[in-house]
Amino acid sequence: MSFTADIKTELCKIQIKRDCCLRAECYGAWLFSKCFTIKEAAFTTESGPAARRMLELAASGPGVSAQLSYAVSRRRRPAYRVSLPEEQERVRLVEAFGHTGREPSLRINRAVLEGDCCQTAFLRGIFLACGNVTDPNKGYHLEFAAPYKNLAGDLYTLLGEAEAFSSNPAVVRRPGGYGVYLKDSGQIENLLTYLGATGASMELMQVKMYKEARNNINRKTNFETANMDKTYSASARQIAAIAAISDCRGLESLPDGLRELAVLRLNNPDLTLRELGQRLGISRSGVNHRLQKLLEMGEAIIEEKGIDGIM
Ligand SMILES: [Zn+2]
Repeated sequence: MSFTADIKTELCKIQIKRDCCLRAECYGAWLFSKCFTIKEAAFTTESGPAARRMLELAASGPGVSAQLSYAVSRRRRPAYRVSLPEEQERVRLVEAFGHTGREPSLRINRAVLEGDCCQTAFLRGIFLACGNVTDPNKGYHLEFAAPYKNLAGDLYTLLGEAEAFSSNPAVVRRPGGYGVYLKDSGQIENLLTYLGATGASMELMQVKMYKEARNNINRKTNFETANMDKTYSASARQIAAIAAISDCRGLESLPDGLRELAVLRLNNPDLTLRELGQRLGISRSGVNHRLQKLLEMGEAIIEEKGIDGIM
């Protein structure tokens, strides 16, 4: 199941306690469904629970009976088709919320939203009809697909002024309608919690934490790998120089301090200067100084004889 489908299933488990909120959720769901008109229209959704909830809301709120049938969504997935085949039912639905169904431009009738409780229910209804949230593993995006420009504008205003959560939505033109969307993961979490989808909100938060932890690990690993490469390539150069001394003059020709370090380095190519120093009981700069001497000697031999002369 998609993340959106999970959210809708979770939202449909919420029991509505007040009649005012039932009306508000019904209004939100139908107003944004493209079926809020006197003309015959149908609405398709991939969420079975959302489709059934729309029917229940219509029946128990304004007492309108709608029809449910199987369909295929635009993404070619199994879907549900909600419609109001009877004209009298369509008239009853729009009139129940103070509309005529013949308005040149459909707007949100705020008189339906009696209290703050109703605003939550109203937004939940809208989400059930046209909400979509991208899988948080892929990105953060919550969008309401509003059927008309003015409805999109009204929803934008409603979201922006909601006191229970702060969000700064944006509106974008889409094929067949308008998108009102949020891209900030924190704002999406807050909105989902506000609507009552606490499970989905928690899941989003966990995915975000996991992604951040993974990014930190990657950053650290990249940093360590870069340092390792640096240590290793310096070490390779030192070993080539020590090998040249060993082959041409023998390591026994070196003074004790240099010989000790040369043998240690040959056997431990991955030790840092500090670690070499700890093994020998000398400082990092002491190690560096001695390695510089070994490099000078060895590279002078390589230059003199050529690398082939030594190998
Ligand atoms: Zn209410």
